[in-house]
Amino acid sequence: MADNKKIDLTEETARRWLTERGVQIKDIAELVFYLQEKYHENLQIEDCVANVERVLSKREVQNAIITGIQLDMLAEKGMLEEPLQSIIGTDESLYGVDEILAFSIVNVYGSIGFTNYGYIDKQKPGILARLNDKSTGECHTFLDDIVGAIAAAASSRLAHRAAGVDRKD
Ligand code: MG
Repeated sequence: MADNKKIDLTEETARRWLTERGVQIKDIAELVFYLQEKYHENLQIEDCVANVERVLSKREVQNAIITGIQLDMLAEKGMLEEPLQSIIGTDESLYGVDEILAFSIVNVYGSIGFTNYGYIDKQKPGILARLNDKSTGECHTFLDDIVGAIAAAASSRLAHRAAGVDRKD
């Protein structure tokens, strides 16, 4: 991120909550590397970090992050009303709103993000395996989809730029 860029409250909160919930930029960059390694010779982790940073700078992404993490945090504290408390607290598989929220991130750099998202959601490499570990007592019903979606969007941006598609954002 550019040094002279002013970080507002929404972006600051989104970034801080990711960290506080155990997700580092590098964890997401490693997912991007996992998705894109086979398509780009000499792909560097720094390229993946840079693309994750660009995704995180978008307001619609920040909004999805703070909304999803807020619900996870409230569920973890048992502070939601029923039936939502049980649904989110147990990560009920047919709920689906966590994935719908993540779609608002997946698509910011074009529809190939969907392919990446579906793939990584099935494979659950790296940080995604930890976020899906139900034995920790933590609630990451929304966060796992958000992290997968950020990685998918960053992969999409990286692929577009590698293909020489002129995108200014
Ligand atoms: Mg989920």
